[in-house]
Amino acid sequence: MPVRVYIPTPYRQYTAKNAHVEAEAASVGDLLRALADRFPGLGERILGADGKLPGHLNVYVNQVEARSLQAEATPLAAGDEVALIPAMAGGGEGGPGDAAAHAANGAAPRRPILTRDQLERYSRHIRLDEVGLMGQRKLLDSRVLIIGAGALGSGAAVYLAAAGVGTIGIVDGDRVDVSNLHRQILHFTHDVGRPKVQSARRHLEDINPEVRVQAHPQWLTSDNAMRIIADYDLVVNGSDNFPTRYLVNDACVLLGKPLVDASILKWEGQATVFLPGRGCYRCLFPAPPPPGSVPSCAEGGIIGALAGHMSTLQAIEAVKVLLGVGDPLSGRLVLFDALAGEYQQLRWKRNPECPICGDHPTIHGLIDYEGFCGVPGPSGEDGHGDTAEAAGAFGLSPREAYERAQRGALLVDVREPGEYGRVRIPGAELVPVGSLVRAREQMDRDQEMIFVCRIGERSALAVELLRREGFAKVYNLEGGLVGWLNERLPVEEVEEVTGR
Ligand SMILES: [Zn+2]
Repeated sequence: MPVRVYIPTPYRQYTAKNAHVEAEAASVGDLLRALADRFPGLGERILGADGKLPGHLNVYVNQVEARSLQAEATPLAAGDEVALIPAMAGGGEGGPGDAAAHAANGAAPRRPILTRDQLERYSRHIRLDEVGLMGQRKLLDSRVLIIGAGALGSGAAVYLAAAGVGTIGIVDGDRVDVSNLHRQILHFTHDVGRPKVQSARRHLEDINPEVRVQAHPQWLTSDNAMRIIADYDLVVNGSDNFPTRYLVNDACVLLGKPLVDASILKWEGQATVFLPGRGCYRCLFPAPPPPGSVPSCAEGGIIGALAGHMSTLQAIEAVKVLLGVGDPLSGRLVLFDALAGEYQQLRWKRNPECPICGDHPTIHGLIDYEGFCGVPGPSGEDGHGDTAEAAGAFGLSPREAYERAQRGALLVDVREPGEYGRVRIPGAELVPVGSLVRAREQMDRDQEMIFVCRIGERSALAVELLRREGFAKVYNLEGGLVGWLNERLPVEEVEEVTGR
């Protein structure tokens, strides 16, 4: 039985790009000679002139540095894990530093990849092929910014700090309120009244004293976002409002930073990842919903543990992106219906027409996001055209939808009850988009259905979801209720809306 040897990136050119090789050897010295024989070019890098361990190389046997054992005489047994780690990565390859290290042979000062404490703390990470010593080093050198120390930010921060992400920035201008505690696990009862970034920093440092927590006790704005985000490798979005979501998205696109996104409401969670060049939040949701149409967690309620669930998903995705392993949730939106215990995945694509990450962007700097979200473009503008594309061939003009409804098609309104309560199309049934995953069980697949929302965004998402589920007779009302009203088609006004 051979031993398994980890080959670091700078040496992989000699091992046909293999990250791991296996070899038969009775000791570390044996192993180095066997590798030198087998891989020309590698020998001069891993063997000193005298056949001893060269000063620039650390050899780890089952995570313990060989010099602290019996150096090149350290015995190896079948199944042992060996890692070759050049101590001066990047600086010594073939240069004068390399020669100096050779000459010093063992006496040269070495900065180990990980300290003994780190080897112990992160041992379960290091055992993973996808992490290993170098991966853990990468995490320790990484900088992650978390937007909001609230429900999502709490869970993500706890796991990223525990994982050894070296620098964690937290932006939040809020103070801890007792009503936060049922889901914001970074804050404890005795923190009530304290700035959230302060209590976050204290608890994260308790979890892992090695982590540097940078507190930004302020709200993210168009004035500070570029400066703050530029300092980090990756952003985790835990914001709870649409202006901040669009702001964070745009700043990340402009700065080329990966963004790990999630949102939660009631029993429903969403998560996805935006990687530079592969689509953004605006590709997925071209326009914000009308103000007040989607309740906040304060209004709509939220099941506390759902925040934990979605935020740890964010932490996992962040670690994957930082390490460059696995398939990040880029181009996929995960929907979790906690009440039904069901997951869905929607595919989404970068939109070449996207105003910020598309082929001909029209947004080149940060804008006024309160204004953008307070005054959503009704029809014919930015959001609307993208929706029609998202719904593909399944969009209907208001006139056609009206005629089909006359012939028996069912109208399904996916807005929230408050919106539906004010004005609606006569006969339209209310199924808020958040409860669609559950409601679809009761839907008749042979019934022709036309989905309606205010401007045709949420309903396009509903149609896409159901088409994926095999519903062949579902359509989207293009332009939504706004388009319907523009055509002067009949509506039912339930309450008097004042001020209009
Ligand atoms: Zn985009």
